[in-house]
Amino acid sequence: MLIGLFGGTFDPIHFGHTKSIDLLHSLVPFDQIYWVLSARPPHKDAVSASIKDRFEMLKLALGNRLDYFADDTEITRTSKSYTIDTVETFKKRYPSAHFCVVIGGDSLQTLHKWHRYEELITSVNWLVMHRPGYPLEVPRELRQRLVESPTQLQHHNSGKIWVCSESQFNVSSTRLRAALAKPNGWQDSIVRDFLAPEVVSYIRSNNLYQTSPSLKEKHLEPNKSNSNPYKSDSEQYKLSKSSHFDNIMNSEQLKDQVVDALEDVKGQDIKVIDIADISDFADFMVVASGTSDTHVKALARSASDKLRVQGVKPLNEDGADVGEWVLVDFGDVVLHVMRPEVRAYYDLEKLWDEDVRKLVEKHREEQSE
Ligand code: ATP
Repeated sequence: MLIGLFGGTFDPIHFGHTKSIDLLHSLVPFDQIYWVLSARPPHKDAVSASIKDRFEMLKLALGNRLDYFADDTEITRTSKSYTIDTVETFKKRYPSAHFCVVIGGDSLQTLHKWHRYEELITSVNWLVMHRPGYPLEVPRELRQRLVESPTQLQHHNSGKIWVCSESQFNVSSTRLRAALAKPNGWQDSIVRDFLAPEVVSYIRSNNLYQTSPSLKEKHLEPNKSNSNPYKSDSEQYKLSKSSHFDNIMNSEQLKDQVVDALEDVKGQDIKVIDIADISDFADFMVVASGTSDTHVKALARSASDKLRVQGVKPLNEDGADVGEWVLVDFGDVVLHVMRPEVRAYYDLEKLWDEDVRKLVEKHREEQSE
């Protein structure tokens, strides 16, 4: 029996995964392919969707194919998701099977950093799917393991590598998450082109990858005494949230205090964006850059400490454990501190630019007609 093992964070699973494997399956006679969710990926600092959501999306994307299995081996294991441990588990489960581990071209370049690499490389065969944007070249120390066609793999139990250059899907979960974080991101062409409709529906019904709405959900603390039946849901939300600090300082003062605190510890490229007229959840968004993870954390801490001593306790702080992007929610003011490359990538400022304002205005006009 020939078993394929394909591991991924699948955050979310996309056609770069599924169509590449379909293609591979048409060239290699697998009996079964196990799609192993990397629950706690050792090479990634942060994962966006929960293990449960990623696993649900994986199952939806695989549909009811009898030879594909969504596998929870690394979910039930509480330690980091090392491939060598998974291979050992599968070998015990299917002692007479042959195994191929499938990876993308980007993973091939970093394979030498994987846990117990030397053992891992010789314990299974390897199938590498070309990934646009990454070199097709096999690292020098692995070249003697290359075979020219998948049929040659049948003559070797383990330790050989075949590269499938036909796989050409130019997509990544990172790009999809960035698209999905934008307003109406599910309508973006990359989402439509590379996500299964079932996965898109799941993402939409569970509000995944949406920075602002999930933030909104997290902080929505219904306060009965503030309820106003004449306000819309969004106005009501804002009312319930801002009322936390109105007796201490208004949003203008709050925003000034945050900026002062950032300047105190040399925050870079500080930008204040007035979002009162287009947002349901805050009046100002303050964005700043820090030169390193430590600096990012220090900037966020400076702001929360300064406000805390004045009686303003942040409603939420996210990301301080990693430090690439820390978010501090002060009610009417939301602070984002990021490393410059993370800031450039997510381009939060663009979310609130003139085009978005015009769209919101247009939408409101249409609603009132
Ligand atoms: P992220 O952008 O979050 O890093 P990803 O798109 O690389 O995610 P993973 O779930 O980390 O997706 O990838 C699982 C495996 O699939 C890895 O071996 C990766 O190299 C491979 N892979 C991902 N996308 C592609 C693609 N477009 N073509 C070929 N292989 C891919």
